[in-house]
Amino acid sequence: MKWTGVNELREAYLSFFESKGHLRHKSFPLVPQNDKSVLLINAGMTPLKKYFTGELEPPRRRMTTCQKCIRTPDIERVGITARHGTYFEMLGNFSFGDYFKKEAIPWAWEFVTKVIDLPVEKLWATIYEEDDEAFDIWTKDVGLSPDRIVRLGKEDNFWEHGSGPCGPCSEIYFDRGEEFGCGKPDCKPGCDCDRYMEFWNLVFTQFNNDGHNNYSRLSKPNIDTGMGLERLACIMQNVNNLFEVDTVRNIMKAAEKKAGVVYGTDPATDVSLRVITDHIRSTVFLISDGVVPSNEGRGYVLRRLLRRAARHGRLIGIRDSFLSDIAEVVAHENYSEYPELTEKIGYIKKIISIEEERFAATIDAGLVMLSEMTESARKAGSSVLSGADAFRLYDTFGFPVDITREVAKENGMTLDEDSFNKLMSEQKSRARAARANISGWSDASKNLVKGFEKTDFVGYENDECEAKVIGIIEDDESVISVNEGTFSVITDRTVFYGEGGGQVGDTGKITSDGAEITVINTLKTDGVFLHICRSEAGTLSVGDKVLLKIDAERRAAIRRNHTACHMLQAALRSVLGEHVEQAGSYVDDTRLRFDFTHYEALKEDELLKVENIVNGHILAAEEVRTEVMSLEDAKKTGAMALFGEKYGDKVRVVSVGDFSRELCGGTHLTNSSRAGLFKIISESSVAAGVRRIEATTGLGVLRLIAENEALISDTSKELKASVISELPRRAAALQAELRNAKKEIETLNGRLAASRTESIRNGARDVGGLRVIAVELKDGTPDMPRSICDEFKASDPLSVTVIATVSGDKLTFAASCGKDAVARGAHAGNILKRLSSVVGGGGGGRPDSASSGGKNPDKLNEALGIIPDIVQEMIK
Ligand SMILES: [Zn+2]
Ligand SMILES: [Zn+2]
Repeated sequence: MKWTGVNELREAYLSFFESKGHLRHKSFPLVPQNDKSVLLINAGMTPLKKYFTGELEPPRRRMTTCQKCIRTPDIERVGITARHGTYFEMLGNFSFGDYFKKEAIPWAWEFVTKVIDLPVEKLWATIYEEDDEAFDIWTKDVGLSPDRIVRLGKEDNFWEHGSGPCGPCSEIYFDRGEEFGCGKPDCKPGCDCDRYMEFWNLVFTQFNNDGHNNYSRLSKPNIDTGMGLERLACIMQNVNNLFEVDTVRNIMKAAEKKAGVVYGTDPATDVSLRVITDHIRSTVFLISDGVVPSNEGRGYVLRRLLRRAARHGRLIGIRDSFLSDIAEVVAHENYSEYPELTEKIGYIKKIISIEEERFAATIDAGLVMLSEMTESARKAGSSVLSGADAFRLYDTFGFPVDITREVAKENGMTLDEDSFNKLMSEQKSRARAARANISGWSDASKNLVKGFEKTDFVGYENDECEAKVIGIIEDDESVISVNEGTFSVITDRTVFYGEGGGQVGDTGKITSDGAEITVINTLKTDGVFLHICRSEAGTLSVGDKVLLKIDAERRAAIRRNHTACHMLQAALRSVLGEHVEQAGSYVDDTRLRFDFTHYEALKEDELLKVENIVNGHILAAEEVRTEVMSLEDAKKTGAMALFGEKYGDKVRVVSVGDFSRELCGGTHLTNSSRAGLFKIISESSVAAGVRRIEATTGLGVLRLIAENEALISDTSKELKASVISELPRRAAALQAELRNAKKEIETLNGRLAASRTESIRNGARDVGGLRVIAVELKDGTPDMPRSICDEFKASDPLSVTVIATVSGDKLTFAASCGKDAVARGAHAGNILKRLSSVVGGGGGGRPDSASSGGKNPDKLNEALGIIPDIVQEMIK
């Protein structure tokens, strides 16, 4: 056995099975493709499930992969011990109804004993207790001594998930040596101690469980094996855990360097180093596979990992953003198998820095608040942090609950999980309700249409059709809030598009022999269309033959915007990258609105590029095709589907040339050129990581131009520019004029103040050698009295100055005394105090500077008149 690096081990395994006729396949993305049963790929066979079930045909009957996996059920345990990690890789070889045990077991043995040279005396195998077939292969074909084989029961060596394919397993163990053992005489694989380490599990899927534990043999059994790459590396490198394996250790070294600490010297520091090391690995691979931080699903997993890593960085003394630098090390260490990390490193670092900075802005305030919360809980004699507190931290500071829980734990407290979860789910349902309201459609509507046949929609090709009225519902306001005097009409068929898929409902007319009805909106639920109507003349009855006619001009505008919306999405993906995913859309006759995942505001040149691409495809006059096919077929064509959206068996695929292909039930153009022209109106943020573009097409662009022209023409008039081209020059000239005028005003004001100050100074009266000034200042600026007082105090040590101003029935006094005046007993504060006995109000201040108010303007002259006497008394 020779020391082997992680990257070399991976290569050795994959090329070995390649030599055994396996198709070597690159790791599938962490984000499951067309599989909503898991949030993230968490086992090597998960992306291959459909090959095992026969739902999809595999590219070859033998495959081998090294699969990226993320497991997050116990994020908080990660780091505390060295056993847990969120990110790991699984080596596996798979047979889809091809080879079976007779090949799988000897190959596994050949790999471990010949390729990586594990010493035979260290190896053990376990089998399912009833699997004599495996026992025979191990002993006869492989030649393993029977006393090295342990038979274990169903819970250990039988792979099963409810009903469906299942079967026995055989595991290969490595004996780490007596020093890891419990010392009991019967210690062997299956024992609870650390001596025997399982590292490879071979699953023989040979039965089908009918759900009642009746097992029948599969005609074509499968092989599914899994070996943790990092665990194997631990054996090959003779280290204790994944954090000591070469590539992982190198990542940790980068963190040590950043913090100026060394692993293995302090238990608390070690925890933080392990958290950072593990989480940054997950983070880099998640972002590379298109996940961006958000508050839901995969995005929230990423956010939790990033924020927990950021907090642990602080715990070991790193004050600045650092994770994006460590991301580079992750890319470097994984270059041989995942060169895409290096290709995307700029993007990956950017996402990490943005999230790090966003969190940095709140983490300190949040931690202060959290420590106040734990403190006050403790004072109240409780060791439980309330759910409301944890929720407030989440809501205000973006603290993932893991962090709150962890900090609480560090302080010897627990968290009231139930009440926190309750608040979280309340918030989620509020958000859901808000979304439901926007679509104007409530669950109650389902009752409304109960019993009606699904409406036959013929509006993709037609603007009008004949139909029969099959239901009329006088609207109950609690069900649909619409204008007074409206009612809903249900017909057997319709051309009216029912609001849905982000497209507004159609409007138009329903006419019969005796009635003319205006349709103000169309809704759809469970396949039944409701025409929301207002009667213009006459009445309708069930059974009436009617003519349905949509407002075709409005519909045409909607078509333009909807097709453009698809083109916009395709253009955004080509300009910004594949991480762009639809987060919402809205299309009506005046504009389109498209929300999508992206981490920052679009730059001007990016917007221009997007606009140019869409217009390029409009001018190229590309055919817009709509095809109905099975969901599987649609996905094979690479059509964009919405994550989390429910689709029926048959779906409609809308394509614009080869440029855009989406699943969509909306109404579209027949040719891209019919959009006319595409113009972006605005770009903005909707939520963290979600951007919104509003745009318009066709006549909407014309309207935009007209509006802009009106704006320009109004501006021209105001600026007295005779031709448009003169506008910038006029505006610049006016700005310059304004600047000059302001300057002039400043100069004049300064001069005015100086001359006024001069005349005030000239009005000083001599009182025992002091120069006493007591005047009312009319129409000065509000800060003038104060500045005059200050100036006199500074320039004339013998001055005593009181300046009064009147505003309405309010008096204000400012007063000051020069240095020598104060030395002789003058006191500005006391002077004003004395005045208040005359004018009311109050005030005072220091000997050299004071201010006060008064209420009696009539008494102002009297007050000013007694000031010389007051001063005289003071200096006696
Ligand atoms: Zn033991
Ligand atoms: Zn659409």
